[in-house]
Amino acid sequence: MGKQQIVSRMLIGGQLVESDSGQWLDAIDPSTEELIGRFPSGSQADVARAVEAAESAQPAWGALDPVSRGKLLRKVASALRERSEEALHTEVRDTGNTITKMKGDVESAAYAMEFFAGLGTEIKGETVPASVDNLHLTLREPYGVVGRIVPFNHPIKFAAHALAAPLMAGNTVVVKPPEQSSLSAGILAEICRDLLPPGTVNIVTGNGMPAGDAIVRHPSIKRIAFTGSVPTGLRIQRAAAETGIKHITLELGGKNPLIAYPDQDPEKIADIAVSAMNFAWQGQSCGSTSRLLLHESLYDKVLEGVVERVAALRLGDPMDPASQMGPLNSKAHYDRVCAMVQAGHDDGARLMIGGKRPPGAAFKKGFWLQPTVFADVDRSMRIAREEIFGPVLSVFKWRDEKEALELANATEYGLTASIWTNDIKAALRAARAVRAGYVWINGASAHHYGMPFGGMKSSGLGREEGIDELLSYTETKSIHIKLT
Ligand code: NAP
Repeated sequence: MGKQQIVSRMLIGGQLVESDSGQWLDAIDPSTEELIGRFPSGSQADVARAVEAAESAQPAWGALDPVSRGKLLRKVASALRERSEEALHTEVRDTGNTITKMKGDVESAAYAMEFFAGLGTEIKGETVPASVDNLHLTLREPYGVVGRIVPFNHPIKFAAHALAAPLMAGNTVVVKPPEQSSLSAGILAEICRDLLPPGTVNIVTGNGMPAGDAIVRHPSIKRIAFTGSVPTGLRIQRAAAETGIKHITLELGGKNPLIAYPDQDPEKIADIAVSAMNFAWQGQSCGSTSRLLLHESLYDKVLEGVVERVAALRLGDPMDPASQMGPLNSKAHYDRVCAMVQAGHDDGARLMIGGKRPPGAAFKKGFWLQPTVFADVDRSMRIAREEIFGPVLSVFKWRDEKEALELANATEYGLTASIWTNDIKAALRAARAVRAGYVWINGASAHHYGMPFGGMKSSGLGREEGIDELLSYTETKSIHIKLT
């Protein structure tokens, strides 16, 4: 595909369309700042058309039995796999994430479809012995039209995942991809147009304001699921509350701790600390363990190992399979991350490596920042408390377990935590004490479908990737059948 320009379209009512407004947005390759394509700038009117199409399609879709819905979702999964090379190339150019590690994204999207397709008959109610002269039973019914809004770091993976559970539960969907990386949504739009009844899936590209906001405020959308940052999550809660009674789930940011106990091998912890930062997508991952909490006995050795490994990371063209890190996703995001690096300096953290644009002609253009490590971070600093969502690791020292656990909980976030020790009692004490929704003991990063994923505190509301997600797209109806 090379650097050929891509024009992607929205999917509304089974048709690939441009925006009513006639407006387009540019897609920029973040590694070079070159224009690589364009996509429609969805308007409030486009969202209204999409919701109307979804409303008309829902009764027939909801009336299909789960096995038939599941078969169609499996066909979407197969079609995604067939176009995985094209999707991969589009996505890597558009996001700046490196090609080798991004290979898993389409597979993960297809797997999500198959996972939820297989859970179809679990959308079941209960019988309840509430009285002796009635049979009491519950049914689970779809909401109708579901609105889903997704972020820029894994666009096709999140957009495809966003469809699976609500569709399986009998809803139709309006999804908005991220403005920074929307080209791959065109591929998903073509697949859904070809395989699903018109209006079942509608994809409206464009900016959060107005397109995302119009989805949130639309009176016919009662169920909204959002993946993105805490500030946008708050805006969405406010907008929804102003316009209706809505069920919202939120998958938001993280500032996740990796806690290493003194019984650990410093070399192993250095390896895992670097891999769990997800430098392959520039640390732009909600689950990156961006706070490394080291026992004092390990501190110097692990820090030395981390710096060595970070220094060896190969930055370069994200399309080159040898590249281990690419550019940040957009100019606005690059500026935000650079401001946080400056905050690290200003607050007195010790810069161990990185913090600048990499030298050399290849990095003159594009949103390049070296992988960065700050040591001697304390909890009062901004880089200790705020999500950076970039290639910046903050390293802390602790002396006793109480201090480690206090540090782990000393942010408003509570998405993931990674605990490293062979002392089973200490590991379980820590796992229970950390306020995080997803905890690994002697592990990091991996998601396991079937296990509910989601955040505590400001990291979110609700759980995804398991049965909880599927059922969250249904409403319960109680029925009483008089027997006497
Ligand atoms: P973001 O700025 O919050 O945007 C996310 C999505 O919301 C985009 O599609 C955005 O549209 C849209 N949006 C913006 N303003 C809106 C509004 N007022 N109403 C409705 N929609 C609106 O987040 P991001 O920068 O794309 O992604 C990074 C964040 O996502 C990080 O905080 C990261 O931790 C979080 N994240 C969480 C998870 C998780 O599972 N917990 C997974 C991945 C990422 P435009 O961009 O088009 O304007």
